[in-house]
Amino acid sequence: MEFIGTRGAPPVYGGVAILKGIAPDGGLYVPSSFPRLKREDLENMLWMDYPERAACIMKEFLDDYTEAELKEYADKAYARFENGEPAPVTDIDGETFIMELFHGPTLAFKDVALTILPYLMTSARKKYAGGEKTLILVATSGDTGKAALEGFKDVEGTEIIVFYPSDGVSDLQKLQMQTTKGSNTHVVGIKGNFDDAQTAVKRIFTDPECKRKLQEMGYALSSANSINWGRLMPQIVYYVSAYLDLVGAEEIDMGDEVNFAVPTGNFGNVLAAYYARKMGIPIGKLIVASNVNNVLTDFFTTGKYDVNRPFHKTMSPSMDILVSSNLERLLFEMGGRDPGFVRKIMDELSRFGMYTVDLEVLEEKFPEFQGYCATEEDTASAIDNFFETHDYLLDPHTAVAVSAYYDYLTETGDPTKTVIASTASPYKFAHDVLKSLTGVNEPDPFRAIKRLHNFTGVRVPEEIAGLENETPVHTLVIEKEDMEQTIFDILRAKDE
Ligand SMILES: *Cc1c(COP(=O)(O)O)cnc(C)c1O
Repeated sequence: MEFIGTRGAPPVYGGVAILKGIAPDGGLYVPSSFPRLKREDLENMLWMDYPERAACIMKEFLDDYTEAELKEYADKAYARFENGEPAPVTDIDGETFIMELFHGPTLAFKDVALTILPYLMTSARKKYAGGEKTLILVATSGDTGKAALEGFKDVEGTEIIVFYPSDGVSDLQKLQMQTTKGSNTHVVGIKGNFDDAQTAVKRIFTDPECKRKLQEMGYALSSANSINWGRLMPQIVYYVSAYLDLVGAEEIDMGDEVNFAVPTGNFGNVLAAYYARKMGIPIGKLIVASNVNNVLTDFFTTGKYDVNRPFHKTMSPSMDILVSSNLERLLFEMGGRDPGFVRKIMDELSRFGMYTVDLEVLEEKFPEFQGYCATEEDTASAIDNFFETHDYLLDPHTAVAVSAYYDYLTETGDPTKTVIASTASPYKFAHDVLKSLTGVNEPDPFRAIKRLHNFTGVRVPEEIAGLENETPVHTLVIEKEDMEQTIFDILRAKDE
């Protein structure tokens, strides 16, 4: 299958799309068409384990890889998850289910894609690259950074540089990144927010001069952000897998619809659910849950996307995003796959920080998307109430989705069974979770973890407990204007 650019870049094979990360004109790669899974395919997949399901779905898109290759990568990647299960589904009350995506090495859902992406990329390098090294540039709102660092740590022929907002991630997220081992990992704080980091990284990707200079040093750029097709594709798998698990558990019959509620920032995770629906999974509604940075809620209710608004730091920092990159892929579908439509909108976005689409067309084309948002108070009470009612501990991101789902339920009374995507371990955000439950404000992250454990009895993941004794090694913080210069400084120091 070929991949085409949303802004009109010429088609490339899947491996090339993954290796490049983003099209040369700044557009995003999308499959030239969406394969349909037939009922028979779904029935065959029912009894497969997760890596088998993953290989089955990925081969629909990547015919330049063999199925054996894909199976091997999925086996290796998902062995790193607790019990080898990247997406176990927990029954809350027979109507609501939680898909737990946070049992990987860095305790956030980003691991599901970022444990397998390095294999897909290394193999693509062998197939397509002319011997140059790969430089992975990452802008992170907290979780992508660590997951990408762990995934690409000590991968041959690869350097990885992660930029994060120095004051915009949780203490634990920061410590996770700053203590990363490996000889090819670099972590840099910027004085700015996630949007600043993402905009600069995207600019570097499309700057011919920068590309030429890197080439002279023997590097080709790639991305581990969800603009990379290799990030989105592995995420489609868990929506298919969760559906099959519900059928397997006789919660639903094959063919019944389910809804998904997804905490959303860069619009990658919920877009993967939409793609699963396009592939034939019977999904009813997709509840797009935002925190107070609710640009997407406004977009789905008014058709206007407007980033000219205050940026809020919240207790769900991985969703503190105003420019959701992956919406571009949805706009591509909205405009009937016309690159001119996307170019016009993206041009308006970069010139005015806003654009408006026809609301009627939006609602007609995408009736499945429902935008809801949660304030900080909503989020805190969702954590508290859910623990009280169901004895289940939510992280703040997942709590945003739970709050959005209950708003949707109150408004519609929709009886469809609903799966909430749980994107992080509550212990990654222990301070805010503890405060939401008890009112206690414990600034020390490790003391907050202990108190949260004492209060709830929920097991503390080893990955977190071990961090307390580690010393930060990556402590550089720079002005946001100096990102490009810093990249070259890092690579030059490396060459010496
Ligand atoms: C990245 C992230 C999100 C947002 O996902 P997108 O794919 O960017 O929409 C939500 N929750 C957590 C914990 C995350 O790390």
